Amino acid sequence: MTTVDLPLLPLGRGSDPATEPGVECPGDLPPASDPHLVERARAAKEALGDQVFVLGHHYQRDEVIQFADVTGDSFKLARDAAGRPDAPYIVFCGVHFMAESADILTTDAQQVILPDLAAGCSMADMALIGQVEDAWDALVDAGIADDVVPITYMNSSADIKAFCGRNGGAVCTSSNADVALEWAFGQRPEGTGKVLFLPDQHLGRNTAVLQMGIALEECVVWNPHRPNGGLTAEELRNAKMILWKGHCSVHGRFSAESVDQLRATVPGVNILVHPECRHEVVTRADLVGSTEFIIRTIEAAEPGSSWAIGTELNLVKRLADAHPDKNISFLDRTVCYCSTMNRIDLPHLVWALESLVAGQVPNVISVDAETQEWARVALQRMLDLPGRTAR
Ligand code: SF4
Repeated sequence: MTTVDLPLLPLGRGSDPATEPGVECPGDLPPASDPHLVERARAAKEALGDQVFVLGHHYQRDEVIQFADVTGDSFKLARDAAGRPDAPYIVFCGVHFMAESADILTTDAQQVILPDLAAGCSMADMALIGQVEDAWDALVDAGIADDVVPITYMNSSADIKAFCGRNGGAVCTSSNADVALEWAFGQRPEGTGKVLFLPDQHLGRNTAVLQMGIALEECVVWNPHRPNGGLTAEELRNAKMILWKGHCSVHGRFSAESVDQLRATVPGVNILVHPECRHEVVTRADLVGSTEFIIRTIEAAEPGSSWAIGTELNLVKRLADAHPDKNISFLDRTVCYCSTMNRIDLPHLVWALESLVAGQVPNVISVDAETQEWARVALQRMLDLPGRTAR
């Protein structure tokens, strides 16, 4: 076999002009080497004033985060956008499903803009609506669909959220997945309920086993690429949790070996991970929780304490920079950003803002009315769950 030595092209460094523009950048995308990008972004934002509201997800690059009016996880940002009905333009520095959620929760008069349409999410793309509908048909054939409540993680497309809304289910976040599961099981007579959990098998398994006390054997994985999900009707009937075979390509990288290695080499290290990590990583960690929980934990940590964090690298770097009095490291020896999050760079942000100044509205993310209606039902069921502090 002949191997071709391909250069690795770091995103956004001007080394791959063919792919840098992303999917759709009509007009001039400024080169990453432009020394005036910061001034240009500042000037465009100033010119737009209250017309624009810039949202920055925690996993975004520093060069972009500096222009965010608010930062947060996907759900907080969608709610922040809904809290600014006076801003006609919402520039979402995050990924596609987040911009969809913002569109669902904002008014019809507002437009949500994703600076690069190539900023998708590999996890959300692992559950396509046609696949999920086929799975549901198989549950009907197995005679168990009436027992099943579908729950989807926020990190899913609008049509998967709408599917859950239409079929008596709800959305959850990494902070309230256990409350959502408790609610879902409570929708059926005791001992009969099942949950179809989309699209992240790890969040579903970690929540079910570690927080709800469900046995590992009662969790089965539905593989959309195999006939009948790779499961027999009996396996489906015996399961309490039917986990969709999806995962986050960033959090799925952390391994049990990295945890063991760090414990052996860094005395007193605290392992802090996101519940999208694999079960064997989460069970070895000291603390597990959402992005907001990770941030609060580090803020409250003792000076001099040591932390190895299993979440996206931009956030870990930012936490390390903000807390030089604590020893903060990344829970993996290989440096790996979320490549789709990193599609949003300063050139794309400048391009989006300057387009708005010029009277053009680029890359609008718009969810159709029927999908919006059902997705909102699923989101509302989540909002109606008993509240809790972000974990
Ligand atoms: S970090 Fe994972 S879940 Fe988040 S956008 Fe990237 S691939 Fe998707």
